[in-house]
Amino acid sequence: MLPIRRPKTVLAVLLVLWAALLVLPGNPIPSPFATTTTFQSVSGPVAPTPELPQPWPQSVALDAARAVSARFTSGSTLDATLRGAGLRGSNLTTMLGVAAEAINVRRIRPGQEYQLYFDSAEELIGFRYQLDRQTAWFVARDDGDWAAVKVNIPIQSRTTFMSAEIVDSLHRAVAAYAPTRSSVNDLIIKVGDIYGWDVDFQYDLRYGDRLDLVVEERFVEGKFIGYGEILSAEFHVNGRVLPVVRFRDPDGVGSYFTPEGESLRRAFLRSPVKHSRISSRFSMRRVHPVTGIARAHRGVDYAADPGTPVQATAAGVVTEARYGAEPGRFVRLRHGGSYTSVYMHLSRIEGGIAPGTEVKQGQILGYVGKTGNATGYHLHYGLEQGDRYVDPLRLQFPAADPVPTNHWGRFVAQRDESLETLRTGQANRTAAVAGAGAGL
Ligand SMILES: [Zn+2]
Repeated sequence: MLPIRRPKTVLAVLLVLWAALLVLPGNPIPSPFATTTTFQSVSGPVAPTPELPQPWPQSVALDAARAVSARFTSGSTLDATLRGAGLRGSNLTTMLGVAAEAINVRRIRPGQEYQLYFDSAEELIGFRYQLDRQTAWFVARDDGDWAAVKVNIPIQSRTTFMSAEIVDSLHRAVAAYAPTRSSVNDLIIKVGDIYGWDVDFQYDLRYGDRLDLVVEERFVEGKFIGYGEILSAEFHVNGRVLPVVRFRDPDGVGSYFTPEGESLRRAFLRSPVKHSRISSRFSMRRVHPVTGIARAHRGVDYAADPGTPVQATAAGVVTEARYGAEPGRFVRLRHGGSYTSVYMHLSRIEGGIAPGTEVKQGQILGYVGKTGNATGYHLHYGLEQGDRYVDPLRLQFPAADPVPTNHWGRFVAQRDESLETLRTGQANRTAAVAGAGAGL
């Protein structure tokens, strides 16, 4: 009999509900869960406002009785564009003269934005030309005379706390917050970089898991342009609680650690067998000793005595443990960071090693043999990242070092600050959920 667990039933119902909603028009897709499963609060000194960093020409925009916003079209010139907007006379001639001295008018491209500002008498008092996101040219009246100035628009940032409960996918949970599709993907990649060694995003996530984040939001003139760094986070995954904090070292290099200062990245063991020698290296082309056919050797052979224990090079989950004609008895593991490792020609597979088994780094998977297509006792060890074979001996695995002792004081200061923001956000969320539950 197959017991049906309630969370799966709930998930199935929600997925049906979701499928019904997918056909609705509009972008972004409305989330039926957004109102109940997510929470966001904002902190930080910067209130994003559409302000330029200098009083002039900001005053021109503020004083204008009317502003027109448009984009240059293909083949348009500044002169023709302004004449097209109904501008005539010496005012226009003078303004164009000042503009031509400052702006390289030949660099004006179709699609670039401009604004025209008029006073209450419908006289042109200013022109703004957006070179790129952070650079604008102003040609405007300054005490009666026309003047041109290039304005560098600063990026403003603030920190925000978000708490996303996972109903069907991390992507949808995050999408409930993120203002743009590209910012969702960007944030998912950042989360993957932090947790990729501890969490398998395809298999570990369960209904009701939760991701709490403190992340920077970036704005230009009050307009959201994307996320900055994740400063701290806590992932509740399948019964595990994984807090992390970002540490910026004196050189400005950022990396993530547990609050105790341990690295989240798990390096692979150098070799899966002790007391061995490498008998054949990784190559994309070699003559096979048995078949005599030239073909790639997608792994490393370790010659070792029969029965030598073979260890998992990193923590992971067993995906295959069986016999095959070529590999003989073999074990395949799936790890974080989209890595897969494979161990071939085993004489015997260790008891309990079967698909679905979670293994620790260094755990024994089996013993060196010569089953399958092998001339002598050896272990063939292969490593794949994504769908690509990589050379285990040449791969630079991420460092697994803890916070260096000489940076400990600095780490503690940053940790305490970012964790406080996280804990405050979590407390507010709990209060908001309790309030909603009480019907407030
Ligand atoms: Zn081999």
